[in-house]
Amino acid sequence: MTRIAFLGLGNMGSRMAANLVKGGFEVVGFDPVEAARVQTAASGIKPEASVESAVSGADAVVSMLPAGPQVREAYEAHVFGAARSDALFLECSTIDVESARVVTAAATARGFLMVDAPVSGGVAAAEAGTLTFMVGGADDAFAHAKPILEKMGRAVIHAGASGAGQAAKVCNNMLLGISMIATCEAFLLAEKLGLDAQKFYDIASKASGQCWSLTSYCPVPGPVPAAPSNRDYAPGFTAAMMLKDLRLAHEAAMSSGAATPLGAHAEKLYEAFTAAGGATKDFSGIIRFLGRAVN
Ligand code: NAD
Repeated sequence: MTRIAFLGLGNMGSRMAANLVKGGFEVVGFDPVEAARVQTAASGIKPEASVESAVSGADAVVSMLPAGPQVREAYEAHVFGAARSDALFLECSTIDVESARVVTAAATARGFLMVDAPVSGGVAAAEAGTLTFMVGGADDAFAHAKPILEKMGRAVIHAGASGAGQAAKVCNNMLLGISMIATCEAFLLAEKLGLDAQKFYDIASKASGQCWSLTSYCPVPGPVPAAPSNRDYAPGFTAAMMLKDLRLAHEAAMSSGAATPLGAHAEKLYEAFTAAGGATKDFSGIIRFLGRAVN
């Protein structure tokens, strides 16, 4: 049986690892937080006390860690030295493109296959096994990674060479951050103009303003029952995470010379929202902040 070491058993990782168990893999897991290790043991994941003990003997390593520095540290200081020489690495965290490329280059130099495979979909999709994976890496690494990723997601798309998965993620989430603010502004303007929110939704969802932020994640309560707006903006996807992704987009724009003025402005608005206490709220909760800003 294929043995998988899962690093990072947080909100996303615990659920993704549970789906690997359901998919028939033997899964061992490590997280520095003991409670995370204990909790995931109930899903059939064997907890290990260190990265080294988790990865030694594993056919594949999946990581779902907070950000670039943790990913670099985990692989460079722990995984490379302890993994089997034929192990496959699937790095699923959202990190900067540069870190993804550096870690994969270091893995490749040591003879390992590695992909960057960030996800779209959030905690609910992680639980349901319906994530979208955007994958960067060589063809043979993608071919080996795909059957594992398919146990955790509904769509597994090869975006290109190493770093292309993170590039796709950062572009997608910049688009999402901008479109969420635009959707909020449209509802706030509609309200000022005396237009009923549900009526505006009914019209815009069938007109050229239609977008995911409106019809799948509506920032006003009512039109989309599953949206966080109906539960006082409990996340979902926190504003702090959106800010992290907009900062990654900004860094990527600076280093590549791309013009992203709306992305930069969205970053400033999410900075202000999180500084005003919104960090742990769902990112769609920015509608309240924007409403206050003009009232
Ligand atoms: P989280 O903070 O809940 O989980 C991260 C876990 O990694 C924590 O439990 C932490 O203790 C653990 N960790 C830190 N260093 C470690 C190490 N060296 N070895 C093993 N574990 C370590 O975060 P999350 O919500 O699960 O997000 C994880 C990643 O997924 C982030 O990069 C995030 O941007 C991305 N992401 C999250 C969502 C979402 O909706 N939550 C959606 C898409 C992508």
